[in-house]
Amino acid sequence: MRGIRFLGNSTLGMTDLPDPEVGPGDMLVRVKASAICGSEMETFIPPGGLEGNPGHEVMGVVEDPNGSKRFKKGDRVGVATLQGCGECFWCRQGKQDFCKKASVLKNAHSEYVVGKEIWMQPVPDDITDPLAVMLAGDGMGVPYGASVRSGVKPGDITAVFGVGPVGQGMTMIQTFLGARVIAIDVNPKALAFAEEMGAWKTINANETRDIRSAIWDMTDGFGPNVSFDACGVQEMFNVAMETTIPGGTVMTVAHGTHGIDNVRERLSFHVDLQKGEFWGRNLCVRGNWACHFGDYTDQISMIRNGLQAERLITAEYSFEDAAEAYRRFAEGERGKTILIHS
Ligand SMILES: [Zn+2]
Ligand SMILES: [Zn+2]
Repeated sequence: MRGIRFLGNSTLGMTDLPDPEVGPGDMLVRVKASAICGSEMETFIPPGGLEGNPGHEVMGVVEDPNGSKRFKKGDRVGVATLQGCGECFWCRQGKQDFCKKASVLKNAHSEYVVGKEIWMQPVPDDITDPLAVMLAGDGMGVPYGASVRSGVKPGDITAVFGVGPVGQGMTMIQTFLGARVIAIDVNPKALAFAEEMGAWKTINANETRDIRSAIWDMTDGFGPNVSFDACGVQEMFNVAMETTIPGGTVMTVAHGTHGIDNVRERLSFHVDLQKGEFWGRNLCVRGNWACHFGDYTDQISMIRNGLQAERLITAEYSFEDAAEAYRRFAEGERGKTILIHS
């Protein structure tokens, strides 16, 4: 089958990849749309390349149902990014991302993908192909899961550190949930797009000498109720830990080596309300990684309740123009980029 191969140094080629093997319990899907994920830049940009591609956000139509009782050939399906064993405690709750045997889908930027039938979602008629990719993969699932599980509620102020695609999604969803969002980034274009997604205020981290004071000024000295680290930069994590309101939550959704151990020293810098270690301020520090399979229908409900999730998609390219799509994405395309397969 035709597919993308990462060649290293921010280049790719269209090549013949091995046809995926359909094993017991698997289903073969002809890809209709796949999304570029920020995490792919970890292998796209450096030298080295890959045998194929790390694409993992995908939807399509069933090519071979392989005995499925739920799906028939031609049905539109979303394929879950993480595929669990299907039998363990976590899989049975629809939290397959916690499954010890979970594997990440790959080679989604290809003609076909194979996944376990139990990790396929039916796509309703009112959900377009590009939107289905966002819902079934982690494009919308991660910002949805982080926003909901952190407990963001109407009247909250939240801070989103880093408005790449995940940060933009969180800005959009948290605004929808009734929070006022402070978006923080170094990229003026990203901040302008965050305003389109509903951000209440923005902070350019390059141009603002004292980000902590800027955040406290915006929040009457209290700090945001919930802060989200979506950039994985230790200094920004420190700022989040130091400025979040006592009793609030800091959630990290970023890949990175940042962590709490490096924050401890700096917490003594606080004044007044912010004074004290994070335990002394009753801070809740949480992580959020992938999305649960079981979140899919809740995301669709949110869309049917008025969330205009398609606004997060800022670029659609034909699959054949993938090289251009990746080039633009690596340069900092504002929202999600979708490849449309013919
Ligand atoms: Zn992803
Ligand atoms: Zn499992």
